[in-house]
Amino acid sequence: MIARPCPICRSVEPEIIHRHKLILFEDHPLSGECETVVCKTCGLGFNQRPSTAEAYVAHYAALSKYATSFSPLANADKFSRLADIFIDLYPNRSSSILDVGCGAGGFLAKLKEYGYRNLSAMDPTPACVTGVQRDLGIDARLGVLAEPPFPPNSFDVVISTGVLEHLLLPADDLKALKNLLVPFGAAFIVTPDASRYTEFLDAPFQDFNIEHINHFSPDTLNTLFIRQGWQKVALGQDVLSHTPKWSEPVVYGLFRPLAGENRSPLPAFDKKLADNLKSYVRNSAVLLDKIDRHLRRELAGISEVIVWGAGQTSSLLLSQTILKDLRIRAVVDSNPAYAGRSMAGAPVGGPELRGSFNGPVVVATIREYQAVERIIRETLKWDNRILSLIG
Ligand SMILES: [Zn+2]
Repeated sequence: MIARPCPICRSVEPEIIHRHKLILFEDHPLSGECETVVCKTCGLGFNQRPSTAEAYVAHYAALSKYATSFSPLANADKFSRLADIFIDLYPNRSSSILDVGCGAGGFLAKLKEYGYRNLSAMDPTPACVTGVQRDLGIDARLGVLAEPPFPPNSFDVVISTGVLEHLLLPADDLKALKNLLVPFGAAFIVTPDASRYTEFLDAPFQDFNIEHINHFSPDTLNTLFIRQGWQKVALGQDVLSHTPKWSEPVVYGLFRPLAGENRSPLPAFDKKLADNLKSYVRNSAVLLDKIDRHLRRELAGISEVIVWGAGQTSSLLLSQTILKDLRIRAVVDSNPAYAGRSMAGAPVGGPELRGSFNGPVVVATIREYQAVERIIRETLKWDNRILSLIG
């Protein structure tokens, strides 16, 4: 497969900073291969061996982690901070607004609560579209930017939060965004801030996953838009608190398309971003090694375990730690979209998969360890030994 060029400046032969292969569900549409590079021209971080566009469509349709049973209303408060930022930038409540990649719809729920009354949504995951229609009464449609389900010149603002890091061809998708806007429209964009990954590192290589294939900083996000003929109205950094244990640094920007193509010269190299990505790799490797040594000590003489969680951390641990050498009795996860699948030769599903097994349970999350421990002890009343990832 030909390596992917830089999604911003099209440069090839970047610097490879990290490679790993994740253990995914058997018959997963995506490849677990993750080859993260830094562009030598602009400094952008990206996965240069992602899967095909068709594979991503299949993945988001069937397996998205965003297709949870959460209602948009239950998610709304997580978006309070972003909604406050948006209101400052775009206070007109009667504007027509499209949320591209609305996910579980929490941001839309918050905007509706704040009085925005002309909201629409699109997402590639059917469960997300259905949830937003049902709980918010918003015109939500299934689709991707390559074939948008709304006609051109339809919206004053397009919003896209947590989407740009997923896109194979973000420059092409910016053209699609521009087409959806009326003249003098605007795009409000939010994406993880890769120039601060190291500062917020809590699980090794968490940000290098099968879905996040672009790693932007404020400067590189701005460069992407400028090079595609947009102008910056606002650009900033912030931190979102998703759960009491999980905060995420983000970049946000408001951009307006200029008339016609306006390709600016090659961008400056974002050294701060490149350096941060490299220190993120070093620190993640140290943390992963610490987890492996801890598990090796605690699991000495053990041949079989249950793994709690089928997410990103499990995918990494099953391929890079002692867990790859053990028999996995089951991978327990509450996401109903995962039930009935298999991973590392083990069935994936709810707690009933424990059966009569009384060996150790490895909780494959650092940030939610205490919540999982409570479920295992207090709700399920299992007496199995419970192992955290760090001692
Ligand atoms: Zn580049």
